[in-house]
Amino acid sequence: MSTPLAEALEAQRERLLPCVHCGFCLPACPTYNRLGDENDSPRGRLHLMKAVVEGRLDAASDAFRTHIDRCLGCRACEPVCPSGVEYGTLLELARHVAAERRPQGFLTRALLLVMASRPLRALFFLGGRVLRGSGLAAVGARVLPDVGPLRSARFGLAMLAATAAATTLAAKGERSAAAPSHDPPRGARRQVALLTGCVQEGLYGRVNDATRRTLEANGFDVVEVSGQDCCGALHAHGGDLERARALARANIDAFIAAGVELVVVNAAGCGAAMKEYATLLGHDSAYVARARDCAGRVRDVTELLAEVGPRRGAPVACSVAYDHPCHLLHAQRISQPPLRVLGAVPGVEVRVVANAEECCGGAGIYGITHPDLGGRIGRDKVAAVRGVGADLAATPNPGCMMQIGAGLVLEGARERVVHPVELLDESYRRAGYYGAPTSAP
Ligand code: SF4
Ligand code: SF4
Repeated sequence: MSTPLAEALEAQRERLLPCVHCGFCLPACPTYNRLGDENDSPRGRLHLMKAVVEGRLDAASDAFRTHIDRCLGCRACEPVCPSGVEYGTLLELARHVAAERRPQGFLTRALLLVMASRPLRALFFLGGRVLRGSGLAAVGARVLPDVGPLRSARFGLAMLAATAAATTLAAKGERSAAAPSHDPPRGARRQVALLTGCVQEGLYGRVNDATRRTLEANGFDVVEVSGQDCCGALHAHGGDLERARALARANIDAFIAAGVELVVVNAAGCGAAMKEYATLLGHDSAYVARARDCAGRVRDVTELLAEVGPRRGAPVACSVAYDHPCHLLHAQRISQPPLRVLGAVPGVEVRVVANAEECCGGAGIYGITHPDLGGRIGRDKVAAVRGVGADLAATPNPGCMMQIGAGLVLEGARERVVHPVELLDESYRRAGYYGAPTSAP
């Protein structure tokens, strides 16, 4: 009987075959570009995986763990690969194999355990909201020294502080007398469900609320679906495939039982993971067909709004620095829909940041587990964001919002990061789509 480890090695063996070692992926890789080490490039990591699969290298070795752990999982190497190597899936399998041979670090294991458990997650995010609301997160990020083990704590607190609502947006929330659009809503009352998520629900409830409101304003019926859970992306990326599969099965059961036409996701990493549920459960004959069915219903919120052509709202005069989340651009191959959503807000001037297709260094929990390299990549991104001189930054993924937001907090910058639907929501509020226009809260 094959074991999960043997299955993972076999799945890797097949997926490694298409790589022709051409190296086209190297210039796209943020870790290779910064470290200059072939072992920290996609091709080098594929060589290491092959060595493990063929029994020439121990998956518990420092050499394997170091270079596989250093990968951001940003998947910038996938669209540029002429052979269609499924790098993201290979990375998850490699991390799974490594974790089977030698447990992950304590911080990673603790975070994955918390995210997989509803009660622990609720407690964890309650603590986070208290730290944020009391201002302790912002103070801690300011006073903790940027040295040794305190670096991760300092950055984690800055990430938490960065999840506070953007007062820049409210400050620009002058009452609008603009007449609401009388275009008929486009969604034709199609029934959709929202993945509420873990981080999104715990720290960005306002983004979920904005998503529901903007979908309703565009004619969709948003149905609440109980029984849904964390999407499992963090677990899959961390190599904890069994937990990722358990979470995926729970979501598949919940969304299919709800009978909704589409499952809307407002976190790029979660959407990418859900669209790949059939790969994650490819070995599970009882679930693979249902996984394919569920995955086929998943849409990023910007993808769906752009598909129907979002209603225009009232003006929100501001400039926005837009950055692409890797799991939207590289994993889901979606680039224009978030810009179309922002384009539906009159008065918004969108400026795409330089090198917007490069990872911000957030990569799930990478910014905390790899404060040096993640910090370096993150500082480059923050410099690019600030370089466009906009009032706000926007990116449709909570991990990127927290990573870029933390960098801005640590630099004492005034800019804050929002999800594009937050701006659309503000525009609709001012247009009176939710009732009489009011000033910003
Ligand atoms: S992963 Fe693709 S681009 Fe990179 S070396 Fe292999 S075949 Fe070439
Ligand atoms: S996923 Fe990103 S960091 Fe990892 S090898 Fe590919 S391009 Fe490099």
